[in-house]
Amino acid sequence: IKTILLKNRPEGTPSMSDFEFISEESDLNIKEGELLLETTYVSVDPYLRGRMSAAKSYVPSFELNKPIQSGVIAKVIASKNKNFAVGDFVSGMLAWKTKQVSNGDGLLKVDGSKAPLSTYLGVLGMTGLTAYLGLEQIGKPKAGETLVVSGAAGAVGSVVGQIGKILGLTVIGIAGTDEKIEMLKNKFGFDAGINYNTSKDMNADIAKAAPNGVDIYFDNVGGPISDAVLFNINRFARMIICGAISVYNNKELPKSISVQPFLVKNSALMQGFIVSNYADKFPEAMKQLSTWLADGKLTYTETIVDGFDNIPQAFIDLFEGKNKGKMIVKI
Ligand code: NDP
Repeated sequence: IKTILLKNRPEGTPSMSDFEFISEESDLNIKEGELLLETTYVSVDPYLRGRMSAAKSYVPSFELNKPIQSGVIAKVIASKNKNFAVGDFVSGMLAWKTKQVSNGDGLLKVDGSKAPLSTYLGVLGMTGLTAYLGLEQIGKPKAGETLVVSGAAGAVGSVVGQIGKILGLTVIGIAGTDEKIEMLKNKFGFDAGINYNTSKDMNADIAKAAPNGVDIYFDNVGGPISDAVLFNINRFARMIICGAISVYNNKELPKSISVQPFLVKNSALMQGFIVSNYADKFPEAMKQLSTWLADGKLTYTETIVDGFDNIPQAFIDLFEGKNKGKMIVKI
């Protein structure tokens, strides 16, 4: 059995030396009520960076020298729990281990015949729910409005933009490479895209792409990109603050412009969003996402990295933008 532990709390950008691999020969025996799981897919997510630090947040920090956890799809290979049978696949927050014992708490059965198993970590999992619920609950979109999405080519952003199109919005995506911008427009139907790495003036480029101003901003990145969006918001704009990946590795507090004048002048709303606050709406959201997917209205892309040993590197690569859509490790 292989396990990946958090060895150090990363300083700045995480590196391989922050992780420790251990291998042990062990027969995992299960007791009454337990099941033995074999890991199939592991989700790596930007928010895990926060859990690697000691700072207080909405989820507890990982403990040093303990296994890291994230969203995992696993196969039941032995079961003494009446709710799960051998051969079932489950999704849940599980350890970065090739095999592990669980009592079944928090595990959800997933059906690989309805959708590929990996999608339960992406478009039909946490990131899809984030996209749908963030946009619906805080964005309150109305047809004809203009939506800007940052981190647009990632797991959350690519779904946000497509839902925006389904709902009749004009959608502008911000991402880090020309290839990603092409994908936003050609694969996901965005109306326009801006490459923040090559833009000489983000403020002006947003104004050009959104001639009627910005009604909704779905923010995955924070920092200067989001500052530039603020200059273009409309009256009663809604800003969904979903993530701030551009500052997750900062060693000092980020320098940002003062948002208050923009909010006052435009009677605008800026609200932090955490998907787990909306758990009561997951069933309805899942139903809608599955329907759109089955009807071909929603599509997705994944970057699948092979091999358990590559989990930490896949995580680190999120901060380099090496993924398109959901970053997943296949074991
Ligand atoms: P993504 O699939 O979007 O992957 C991260 C992407 O961020 C990269 O591909 C990269 O794309 C972009 N990025 C990396 N560094 C920077 C930077 N310095 N400036 C701008 N963009 C950068 O991840 P997710 O879709 O899983 O997550 C997106 C955001 O949503 C994250 O901030 C995450 O923490 C947050 N989140 C929040 C949730 C909540 O409940 N609040 C739930 C899920 C996610 P590029 O090439 O374009 O730079």
